[in-house]
Amino acid sequence: MSVLMLGAHMSIAGGVSKALDRAASIGSNALQVFTKNNRQWIGPPIDPEDVARWREEMPANGIRYAVSHASYLINLASPRDPLWTKSQRAHEDELRRAHAYGIPHVVLHPGAHTGSGAQAGIERAAEALNRIHANTPECADTMTLLEIMAGQGTVLGRNFGELRQIMEMVEDGERMGVCLDTCHAFAAGYDLRTEAGYETMMAEIERDIGLDAVKCLHFNDSKGGLGSHKDRHTHIGEGEIGLEGFRLIINDPRWDGIAMLLETPKEANLAEDVMNLARLCELVEDRERVPSGLR
Ligand SMILES: [Zn+2]
Ligand SMILES: [Zn+2]
Repeated sequence: MSVLMLGAHMSIAGGVSKALDRAASIGSNALQVFTKNNRQWIGPPIDPEDVARWREEMPANGIRYAVSHASYLINLASPRDPLWTKSQRAHEDELRRAHAYGIPHVVLHPGAHTGSGAQAGIERAAEALNRIHANTPECADTMTLLEIMAGQGTVLGRNFGELRQIMEMVEDGERMGVCLDTCHAFAAGYDLRTEAGYETMMAEIERDIGLDAVKCLHFNDSKGGLGSHKDRHTHIGEGEIGLEGFRLIINDPRWDGIAMLLETPKEANLAEDVMNLARLCELVEDRERVPSGLR
């Protein structure tokens, strides 16, 4: 098995490329970013200087993987046309930004049907993705990763079957993948705490979407209990999942080559990231797999 790709979601204050400095400063070798302010629908024009700096600094800092996360405003499953089309334009902007930076994957929440029903929402999301793909042929190498969700309210993606239903209706399947968030999966009802529960989830992933579809892991412990449908992240080992669940995943050869990224609470000094990454590294059985910056 290869060296782990471990890191966290990093702030882009001062420029997207500044996130790389933050990731490197704590010894991590992977990261997640927003490629613009995530409370904006469409970002400012892409800054070519920042893109050039990103492309230089990423290898120079030993960062092996980066993923972007799309704005939380986007709802491709909305039954309301104005929000639905605005969301499409926003996700097209996300794809173009990621593409400019050479970021291969964009994590996206599948959306919420807000009362129209799951089936209608699923069809709406797939149709939106087809239109987005038609409008961004230049971003064919930039994948959208649908994230598994805790299943709160009318949110879609509460199980892998729902993600499959959306992806089945997307014509260009090559542009689609999945992001597995441990907190969301646990809150949705997948019991990662035990080997039996973890294997049940893995069998469902294999059956519904195939393991190869999962391109990125979000490593968050869960404040909410199993099946609580609460999306509340907490520090590794301090939530309802506990260390054992993370031990199972981090040592599982089936995830070899897939980045594991924190989205846990933190202050600007990154002390909590350092703490959580140290806890994860403690769980790694083969010490050779711990990234050199984290040894
Ligand atoms: Zn996540
Ligand atoms: Zn979450």
